[in-house]
Amino acid sequence: MKRYQDFDIKNLSHIKIGGVVKEYIEFESVDELKYLKECGKKFVIGKGSNILFEDAYFDETFFSLKRLSHIEYLGQGRVKIGAGSSLADLLKFMAQHELTGLEVLAGVPATVGGMLYMNAGANKISIFDFVENVTILDEQYNLVTLPKYKISHGYRETEFKHRNVTIVEAIFRFLEVGYSFATAMGASDLKKMKQPLQYPNLGSIFKNPESMGAWKAITECGLRGKIVGGAQISELHSNFIINIGSAKFSDVIELISEIKFKVKEKFAIELEEEIIIKKA
Ligand SMILES: Cc1cc2nc3c(=O)[nH]c(=O)nc-3n(C[C@H](O)[C@H](O)[C@H](O)COP(=O)(O)OP(=O)(O)OC[C@H]3O[C@@H](n4cnc5c(N)ncnc54)[C@H](O)[C@@H]3O)c2cc1C
Repeated sequence: MKRYQDFDIKNLSHIKIGGVVKEYIEFESVDELKYLKECGKKFVIGKGSNILFEDAYFDETFFSLKRLSHIEYLGQGRVKIGAGSSLADLLKFMAQHELTGLEVLAGVPATVGGMLYMNAGANKISIFDFVENVTILDEQYNLVTLPKYKISHGYRETEFKHRNVTIVEAIFRFLEVGYSFATAMGASDLKKMKQPLQYPNLGSIFKNPESMGAWKAITECGLRGKIVGGAQISELHSNFIINIGSAKFSDVIELISEIKFKVKEKFAIELEEEIIIKKA
């Protein structure tokens, strides 16, 4: 394993905001995960595409499974994959094996572990649609394989969010009818057109309420383009907050609070954050 002390976490977050953590570890094998027993407070990071870190000192251990990125084809559309693998690598593998299912997510900068934790999705498809089972390191540090029916999940929601477990590996089952390059390319081109990808960001800040898109509510409150410090509600996609230069944690929090307040006042809708806000 690779261990770092007093690690700058700004670079672990897609929005490039964050302080320093006492210890950061990159594990290189499943066996090494037993070291976690000896750590006190700890937190696992995927690609940091959905985490807003406070710009403060974290007296804990952050860890990454990005080196646990094995992928194996088991036949009949089944793929076994390490939680640290990127979605990009999984899609490449699916294309090689002519499997279909997740193309619509192409361009999401995520790991498999992060996607399973959040039940990431797009266009009515979510990653849990393809899960056969998930192997976790549970609260007692035992490796346990859970079949899908034993894992509660919903829209951007899983039981993992309410437990203190590490997702280590999963088996997916995809359809063997050919990978759709057109869908993947379309999804990725659409993101380039509709999302402010040239700025550090965290994707959608809020979950979409049932009655209307979060972006629409934010736009209709006149908040599109609003700037606080180095953070801005994107002009291109108002459910995105972008770092336009040295944004602070407090800048983003202020924008989030104002959005929630104004949307509640105008539409009586309580917006709920999709992102994870990690305070020291
Ligand atoms: C440009 C952009 C576009 C996006 N588009 C979409 C989209 O279309 N659909 C969508 O659903 N999301 C989207 N997102 C949000 C984000 O990519 C997803 O939520 C993704 O699932 C997060 O994956 P990650 O590896 O970056 O996780 P992180 O952001 O690193 O972590 C998110 C949470 O997962 C936990 N976690 C990570 N790995 C593990 C693990 N191995 N075990 C247990 N917990 C773990 C972390 O502790 C944290 O609480 C987008 C983000 C960006 C920046």
